[in-house]
Amino acid sequence: MRFTRIITMLLGGGFALLAVAVFLSCLPASAAEPGGVPDDGGPAAFGYTDHPPSPSAPRIVDLYVDRDFSSQDRQHILRAVRQWNYALNGYVEFRANLLPDTVSSKMIGEIKRTGGWIVARVDSRHPIAQQGEGLHALAVTVGNGRTGFVYVIGDRLGGRDLTGVVMHEFGHVLGAGHDSAGLMAPVYSPGGARCIDHDAMAMVADAQRIPLQQTNWCVPPAYRDDRRPPLMSQR
Ligand SMILES: [Zn+2]
Repeated sequence: MRFTRIITMLLGGGFALLAVAVFLSCLPASAAEPGGVPDDGGPAAFGYTDHPPSPSAPRIVDLYVDRDFSSQDRQHILRAVRQWNYALNGYVEFRANLLPDTVSSKMIGEIKRTGGWIVARVDSRHPIAQQGEGLHALAVTVGNGRTGFVYVIGDRLGGRDLTGVVMHEFGHVLGAGHDSAGLMAPVYSPGGARCIDHDAMAMVADAQRIPLQQTNWCVPPAYRDDRRPPLMSQR
């Protein structure tokens, strides 16, 4: 099994299991999201801020997506990438690549050297899902802050939204820890994992040393401009 091979390399390569980087699955799978993901799934569907983008070129973070994800799964991952790229607003940018069918140790070495992250689909028999916090996780991110792996434990997802799950893990890739609520809460909830909230973006901005006020985040409906009473709108 090629991912048995990858985890051997991973553990031999100086990576640590980040204690903060486990997305726990305490809610039953039947507690799936009520409405699901809006059709277009883009940032506009979630009411994001719209600050002027970075004037200079972004720092690229390469993601290498495993071919074991179905094409539908890949669409969900791309939605998560699109939301993060919108929130990161040109300061940092995820670039999604597809991993080749067979992954050589040379390629793993190259990805590690260039600071890329592998997004792998495994099942609950995989070693990463069989130890410590991985035992109850939907997904686990391991790395050294610059490069590493995001493991999605496919058979534990149930009806949960993969976009939300990987969006949370990508928060860890970008340096965020856990929060009491919202996207970076340690326990998955359909409502919390819908979009990149202010507090999640604040942790990432801090870790990436980018100006928070020039990034974007989703705004709860009650605070959106278009929900202002008519009398307060312009003329
Ligand atoms: Zn987490």
